[in-house]
Amino acid sequence: MCVDPLKKICHWGPFTALAIIKVITLMTIHCSRQWWPPQESFSGAVNFIIFFCLSGSTLFHFISAIYEGPGYLPLKWIPEKATDSQYLQYCSVCEGYKAPRSHHCRKCRRCVMKMDHHCPWINNCVGHYNHCHFVAFLASAVAGCCVSTFTLVSWVMTVLSLRPVSFPPPSVFILILVIFSIGLSIGVILAVGTLLYFQLLSIVKNRTEIEAWISEKAEYRRSGTEDKFIYPYSKGWRFNVQQVLTWDCTPVGDGIHWPVIEGCDQYTLTREQLAQKKDKRKRAKTYRIIKEASGARLPITHGCGVLRHSPCTDEPRIKLKVGDIVTITRWRKYWLFGEKKEDNENGKQVRARGWFPRTCAIEVIENETYSSPSTKSD
Ligand SMILES: [Zn+2]
Ligand SMILES: [Zn+2]
Repeated sequence: MCVDPLKKICHWGPFTALAIIKVITLMTIHCSRQWWPPQESFSGAVNFIIFFCLSGSTLFHFISAIYEGPGYLPLKWIPEKATDSQYLQYCSVCEGYKAPRSHHCRKCRRCVMKMDHHCPWINNCVGHYNHCHFVAFLASAVAGCCVSTFTLVSWVMTVLSLRPVSFPPPSVFILILVIFSIGLSIGVILAVGTLLYFQLLSIVKNRTEIEAWISEKAEYRRSGTEDKFIYPYSKGWRFNVQQVLTWDCTPVGDGIHWPVIEGCDQYTLTREQLAQKKDKRKRAKTYRIIKEASGARLPITHGCGVLRHSPCTDEPRIKLKVGDIVTITRWRKYWLFGEKKEDNENGKQVRARGWFPRTCAIEVIENETYSSPSTKSD
């Protein structure tokens, strides 16, 4: 799936993850050979083999999740029945329609099949084709770190008990390295364990992180009405799990067509997405830029409020110049989220979206009368 193998792995995320896996693995092997030598007892050998398998499985599924990739929708994709495109969103970057459950990822610069989220640790999206590898990676890492923590802590307690031991006393450097590895290992159990829990929940419900967000908005939109939103992809936990978790980690389906529950069709969710988009456009307001926005995450020239309340998301910041017209869809006290349309050098219209300080813009009301930026009075 991946075009340039080096590009995917040469990134701080995979580098850091690989370094953590390496350090914990090497220290655990070192300590278990001294404290519970595999060649001297059967239980020691079993402990060693279990750890070795879990460590290998972590590495295998980690690399597979990166290189298998989530599955990208072909560029310029259109549904088989051309009239069905009315139920789908159009992606101007990929110049095609977004198939059901596909979303465009800014980092991958492609539409991703059943996109869950973009994971910096694998420097790739988690989606249809690598979901199983990703979950297997998380599970192996957590289980491996449980064995590591047990082995490393036992080794440290043996060393610090000052009783005579069967192995040479370690140097201070090794002792510090082992204690550091215990910290890493416990950190992995807590952080990756939490992520694993939410991933398993999403598989059991057959609902990605993005779809959970869409469903929440769908319910909110219908609150107070008879019309209830039915999520189309959950056909019972056993069925849901079998769609993703398979022995060879190959998912069921082609990433474009999905089994749905009775009363729903292929486009139940995409129609809801279009309706939400329409609502959003109705709420949108036009603003004119009166002060340049640099596109910095923490701009220092717009006052303390802007600096302290920079949105805590990985969404982009947008660069704007005086006179630009921007469509705003989200408001915060100190920040605005908007979209600017402009023509690129090929004369093609491109959309730039992102956050910028509220002080940079004023609302354009019909006949060009303005409302002053609210933050000025704050
Ligand atoms: Zn796209
Ligand atoms: Zn991505």
